[in-house]
Amino acid sequence: MRLTLKLTTYFKMLLLIIGICSLFLLLFLSLYLYVGQQEKDVFKVNSNQYKTEVSKLFDFNSKTQVVTINDLTYWDSLVKFTKTKDTVWYNTHIVNEFPTYEVDYIAIYGLDKKNIAHTSNPNFKSNNFIPVQAMMHLYKKKFSKFYMRIPEGVVEVFGGTIHASNDPKKVKSKPAGYMFMARILNQKYFKNLEDMCSSKIKFLDKKVIPHNIGNKKVTSIIELRDADNLVVTKLFFERPSHLNFEKTKELLLIIVIATLISLISAIHYFRKWVYKPLKLVTTILESDREISIYQLKKEPGEFGYIGNLFEDHRKNRSQLEKSKEKAEESDKLKSTFLANLSHEIRTPMNAIIGFSDLLLDEKLSDEFKKKYLKIINSSGKSLVSIIEDLIEMSKIEAKQIAPKFKGVNIEKCLNELFNTLKVTIPDDKNIRFYQQESNFKLTNDILTDEIKLKQVIINLLTNAIKFTENGHVAFGYSVFSDQKFLEFRVEDTGIGIVKKDLNVIFDRFRRVEDDYSISLSGLGLGLSISKAYVEMLGGEITVESVFGGGSVFKFTIPLRYDVTVHEDDESLPIMAFNDTEGKTILVAEDDNINFLLLKTILQKKKHTVLRAKNGQEVVDINASNPNIDLIFMDIKMPVMDGYEAFEIIKKETPERIVIAQTAHSSAEVKERILKAGFSGYITKPLDKEKIFELINKTFQNNVIS
Ligand code: ADP
Repeated sequence: MRLTLKLTTYFKMLLLIIGICSLFLLLFLSLYLYVGQQEKDVFKVNSNQYKTEVSKLFDFNSKTQVVTINDLTYWDSLVKFTKTKDTVWYNTHIVNEFPTYEVDYIAIYGLDKKNIAHTSNPNFKSNNFIPVQAMMHLYKKKFSKFYMRIPEGVVEVFGGTIHASNDPKKVKSKPAGYMFMARILNQKYFKNLEDMCSSKIKFLDKKVIPHNIGNKKVTSIIELRDADNLVVTKLFFERPSHLNFEKTKELLLIIVIATLISLISAIHYFRKWVYKPLKLVTTILESDREISIYQLKKEPGEFGYIGNLFEDHRKNRSQLEKSKEKAEESDKLKSTFLANLSHEIRTPMNAIIGFSDLLLDEKLSDEFKKKYLKIINSSGKSLVSIIEDLIEMSKIEAKQIAPKFKGVNIEKCLNELFNTLKVTIPDDKNIRFYQQESNFKLTNDILTDEIKLKQVIINLLTNAIKFTENGHVAFGYSVFSDQKFLEFRVEDTGIGIVKKDLNVIFDRFRRVEDDYSISLSGLGLGLSISKAYVEMLGGEITVESVFGGGSVFKFTIPLRYDVTVHEDDESLPIMAFNDTEGKTILVAEDDNINFLLLKTILQKKKHTVLRAKNGQEVVDINASNPNIDLIFMDIKMPVMDGYEAFEIIKKETPERIVIAQTAHSSAEVKERILKAGFSGYITKPLDKEKIFELINKTFQNNVIS
């Protein structure tokens, strides 16, 4: 297809060039013919002018002789001489004057046509050669000029009838005789005439037909006739013509060729500078080919700028397309996320509502009651974890989270994690869970954010346990002292991840669309939170996995030792806490159910529980009741919030133990609480064991200090 198109284009080009060349050839031919015609016309005019000029000059050449014979033939003495034939007079007046007449021969005849006298130059031998016929003609015409061929050559003869000086001309009076003068058309004659006419002159033989000498010379022929008007010979005149139309023709050819070359180069450059770039523009508009844009960009001048514009446009468009794709994908992800969220919330909610409904059955045995309550409890915990993940993710997005670097004992931290997670492995799974040996035992603390580090490892281990049925789940770390980083690894022999999903599992709300995985719980936030945390800590997270063969997640954090010196709290004796009972505890809580829950928990240890519904009430009750041992202060309360109430209470009763209770589980809130000076905190949903542990710890510590 492209080849045919190309051939058609070449064929068109060929036709165009042939057409232009033919046009120019035609133009040249017509101009050539026109110039040729002009040349002929001018030459013809020139020739005619030359002929007239030659004929005039030819007559002019005989002027002296004509005047002389006219003078001499109207002379009374000569009339007398025709009668007297006085040789003395003849010698004195004619022979002596003969050289001035510029002729070669002179002869005087009587009316009887008999020669009376004649004189000639020494080399002119002929005499008395004038034919009678000539005299007869002369008698009528009174003057004649004719030519004759005599032994000396061709002579020009002037004849005049002799009259008295008073004899009026042109009157047919009877003459006294005839006078003739002749001169030979010799070299001298020709030289003179040639000089006059600026021409070459020669006799033209009767038999020789003058050849066509073209336009280079102008010619003229003068016939020399005898007394009887018969052609004796011809004089052939020729002069170089100054017409030079050859140059004009050459010039014409040069102009035509130059114009042709200019036109062809104009076409060439038009193609190169206009047609080609325009074609590129068309191609770009039609097919948006990148190579065409690149070629257009390389074109000089405005087309180059257009190329740049196209490139910018292309970039912007691809940027827009990418953004659109991203937006669409994020839209899709959000929809999927909402569907997941709905699923994730409905599942535990279903369990909570369903089993609490079943619990209402009074006939239910204690064993079932316990079982159902466990289910409700664990479903509630799942809900809390979902909410925590969501809040964490939105904080990460809003960049509200910053790592808090502190010295962390990595070995201790990993041991804690091992113990915490070991118990979470379901009994029906055949998993060996263990810690891997490190290449280097870290004894010094590492500067990092412990909470985030732990959270990442927990996320990875939870996933590993979740997606593994048989085999092992192992974790550990390696120290790369030279490169100054620590590498943690979490590996499992679980279901693995297909290659195409490896790139996306760290994206938000991304879950591998796999039937099996969907059946497992999860919002697809764990890995993206982990990735964000690892990056916050200054490291990178990667994954290697074989579908069906398990996965290895690795992440790094910078290897920076903590150089700050702190008190070794490890040296403190580990206390076995006794149960603290029978204290007076003020619970500041505006929500009735939450209050009821906390009250019920506390009453289990025989504590006396007082209630305040807002910050102001806490302050008032505390002031009026010195028996209070402990206050559980809700942070978010009407009238006066927990922080404000705490400040007043601490001023009034500095010894009062105040524990914060909050629905916010984030590290930031926890830190703020501790910074404010609270003795501890509990987060909602409330865990009774944790509450008892905290109360024990608090009272024990207070006793020690
Ligand atoms: P979820 O809450 O769904 O587990 P995560 O972000 O933690 O979200 O994980 C995203 C997805 O990555 C999971 O749904 C799962 O398909 C896949 N995945 C994560 N860890 C593993 C693992 N150890 N083995 C197999 N698949 C995993």
